[in-house]
Amino acid sequence: PQVVFSGIQPTGIPHLGNYLGALREWKRLQDTAHPDTKLLFCIADLHAITVPRPAEELYEHRMHLMAVLRAMGLDENRSTIFFQSAVPYHTDLQWILSCTASMGYLSRMTQWKSKLQLSDNTTMDDPAVKKSLKHGLFSYPILQAADILIHRATHVPVGDDQRQHLEFSRECVTNFNSTYKTDCLVAPQTIVSTSRRIMSLTKPQQKMSKSDPSPKSRILITDSPDEIRKKIRGATTDSLAGVSYDPQTRPGVANLIEILSGFDPERRSPQVLAQQMEEGYKITDLKEAVTKVVCDELAEVRERYQLYVSQNDQLREYAAVGNQKATESAKKTMELVNEAVGLGPLR
Ligand code: ATP
Ligand code: MG
Repeated sequence: PQVVFSGIQPTGIPHLGNYLGALREWKRLQDTAHPDTKLLFCIADLHAITVPRPAEELYEHRMHLMAVLRAMGLDENRSTIFFQSAVPYHTDLQWILSCTASMGYLSRMTQWKSKLQLSDNTTMDDPAVKKSLKHGLFSYPILQAADILIHRATHVPVGDDQRQHLEFSRECVTNFNSTYKTDCLVAPQTIVSTSRRIMSLTKPQQKMSKSDPSPKSRILITDSPDEIRKKIRGATTDSLAGVSYDPQTRPGVANLIEILSGFDPERRSPQVLAQQMEEGYKITDLKEAVTKVVCDELAEVRERYQLYVSQNDQLREYAAVGNQKATESAKKTMELVNEAVGLGPLR
């Protein structure tokens, strides 16, 4: 049977990129996957501390994210929604994987560089790296690999920005299995979301992120129609006449068309949408069209979120159920791994 696993960090309320790249796909899988398929969705709170923040803030983000996942229609009877920190097998496996994972491979990964606002070709010898890079941020992909492998995930639906990390988790499987001459870890397949990565509204060269300091750079899935309108109106575009789809030369406009396509009820591609825009169609018209589809699709999630976010007792109960199920799911793999390494119980 198939196992679907994916995660999201409690670093803020999810935005349009998270919605199109991940959350909507999770809901679709819940609705369409074969009943035997196991579905696990993880609130990756241990990943969230790779960039430390006040404890109270992380705590709130964790609760809020639980409410968002409920509001998305993820249902604890079908899907296992759990906190990473509640299942210590994730970090147990991380340590074991880190003993066969390659430093060279990790240092070529780009995400820690982008979180430190360094360029992709920065090397480990750079003084800026020596000063600011923490070990947790650097080794984060190993924990991510452990998240996936501990549940024997066959399918990992993520956004396009996570491609590199999935490749690395396969590498971890090869390294571990060949070192210990075992086949107890299983390499996952990927399901990269069909929508391209959604870019920041203010800096369309960067991806939309929860951790971007500017709130105007992203639309939260709980934003009011008024907030959505304002942010889209203020989105960076260009001064060319009319609308055309060219991510290279017109990244701001292309991003808006991308969002329009992601929310299009007929699922037309950005290229098709751009072709269908008539002579005289202006960027302001595009912004209005985007505002409308986004407001329409998010209205229901927003309403449900308002309802769930204050129901702490219920959220706690849902979490307890999910944490328990995820613990059971992880235990089996950990036993196999311990056995393979020589850390099994004394006989
Ligand atoms: P952070 O800035 O804290 O890393 P984030 O916005 O990148 O937050 P994550 O929690 O890291 O969000 O990722 C959750 C999921 O959303 C992942 O599957 C990721 O691939 C997807 N995702 C994140 N940003 C985008 C984006 N801009 N476009 C498409 N998918 C995205
Ligand atoms: Mg991220």
